[in-house]
Order: sequence, then structure tokens, then C-alpha cells
Amino acid sequence: MELAPRVYINGKLYGKEEACISVYDHGLLYGDGVFEGIRAYKGKLFRCREHIDRLFASARAINLEIPMAKEELHAAIRHTLESNGLTDAYVRLIVTRGIGDLGLNPYECGRPQVIIITDSIALYPAEYYEKGLELVTVSTIRMPANALNPRIKSLNYLNNILAKMECIQAGAHEAVMLNKDGFVAECSGDNIFIVKDGRLATPPVDAGILEGITRQVVMELARGAGMEVSEKEMTPFDLYVADECFLTGTAAEIIPVVRIDRRDIGDGRPGPTTLKLLRMFRDHIAGAAE
Ligand code: PMP
Repeated sequence: MELAPRVYINGKLYGKEEACISVYDHGLLYGDGVFEGIRAYKGKLFRCREHIDRLFASARAINLEIPMAKEELHAAIRHTLESNGLTDAYVRLIVTRGIGDLGLNPYECGRPQVIIITDSIALYPAEYYEKGLELVTVSTIRMPANALNPRIKSLNYLNNILAKMECIQAGAHEAVMLNKDGFVAECSGDNIFIVKDGRLATPPVDAGILEGITRQVVMELARGAGMEVSEKEMTPFDLYVADECFLTGTAAEIIPVVRIDRRDIGDGRPGPTTLKLLRMFRDHIAGAAE
């Protein structure tokens, strides 16, 4: 029997249709809040502690006090997953500033709202993993850290949405976003890696990126397998002349990139190192879920 979806809001579970937030919530009015996307594999949350730590760090950066302890939040996620009968799932964890008035002042808002939505995971089509993605560099630059630090996973994703629109208009799958200095930052919803002469490289956090948890896992796995991994500034030129390129993210895991700005990357097919890392990643998940 399929269970009706249940959404967690501030300690209670509601049916999907009944799960509501006030129109005066500053999360809606101003994108004032933070969030996380977490995967569960075979009923086990993957790197949940890291995601919760990043949520609390994002909240601290915008002076938002999450009205729950980390352990309580962890338990609430597990409870929501179980109540939905989900084992392989995507969890969206959201904390909004709460209900205020129409003014900007966040200190006028009431209690922050904690929301947990769980759903079956909408994977990228299998074809994308076999054939690889096509990217374009877009004109929308990644938000500079001194405007809104991309390390904050905030509810304000318009910067990324504008980039995504550009890439869709160009007929590509994902957008390469540069920073204000012209260096590669990340994609609209994923981190980016290249392989050159057997070495792995990815832009540093200082390039103005979200410090991806999948990015971290991939660096650990690669180093564990004896690969050289560096975090270094790169320009579109470095992408064009790379042997391989791939993206990382909670939903995407590791996904090959075969074309950028109409240039084939390597021989225009997913590369051996990318495929090896993808296998290692999936093995790691299978081990972590046991
Ligand atoms: N960059 C951005 C802008 C993202 O939104 C995400 C998450 N989808 C990532 C990178 C990847 O982060 P993670 O591996 O923690 O999901």
C-alpha cells in the first residue's frame, strides 16, 4: 500500500495538500532562509551530518537561529522518511526566517519554520550518464562573496536560476558560471571537476562556490585511490583543453560532461577516470548504506 505523502513542519506531519506556510513568511517574501538537499540510499541518509552542519553554518551566516538541535533535526528527518515509507529518497530540508510583516527587517519575524519534504528521487535520465552533458558558459556571473556568499545555501537561488535560463535558451544541459574575475566557479546546481594528465582539479572554495558535499566525497575517494587532486583557479581555457570533465552534486552524484561551448572535451565521450570515479562513488554509497 502506498502511503500518502507527509510533510514535516515544526514537529508535525501534514498531508501534502495541507502542508502550508504563511504568505508573510520571509522565506517566500524575500528568499530569506536556508536549505539542504540530502539523499537516502536503502533507508540510510548519506552524509547527513555534513548536510546538517552546512545548514547550521548557512543559518549562522545569515543570523538565523534554527530552533532545534542538530540531533533533533536528524531524528526528524529519519522520522519523516519512515512515515513516508521511503528508502531511496531525496530529502529537502528548509528553514525559513518565519512570519514577519511586509518590511525587510528579519528581527521582526517570529519563529523560524522548519520544513522537511521527502520524495522519491527524480534522477537525471540514464542517457545523460552514458552520453554525457553539454555545457555552456553563461553571462550571469556567480554571486560575488561580498554580495551574497555562495557558501550560504540560501533560499535565494535567483542567481542560479538566471544562469539555468541562459543555458536552456542555448540548448545546453547545464551552465558554467564564472566569478567576477573570470575564473570558473561552478554550475547552476553542481560543482565542476576536470581531469588533465591523470590529475583531478576543481575550483577552490575561494572562487565563490558552494562547498559541495559530493565534491568533498569525490576528492576523498580520488585521493584514497592515489590520484592527485588540486583545488585551483581555472579559466574556460582549462575546461576546453581538459581530457575529461564532470559535475558533482547530491542529486546528480557524478555526471560526465562531453561538450562545453561547442568544443568536445577529450574525444567527446565520458572519460575513463570519470567512469571509474562514478563506479567508486556508487560502491561507496552501497557500502555506506549497508
Ligand atoms: N553548487 C550548487 C550551486 C548547488 O546548489 C549544489 C547542490 N545541488 C552543489 C553545488 C552541489 O552540492 P552537494 O554536493 O552538496 O549537493
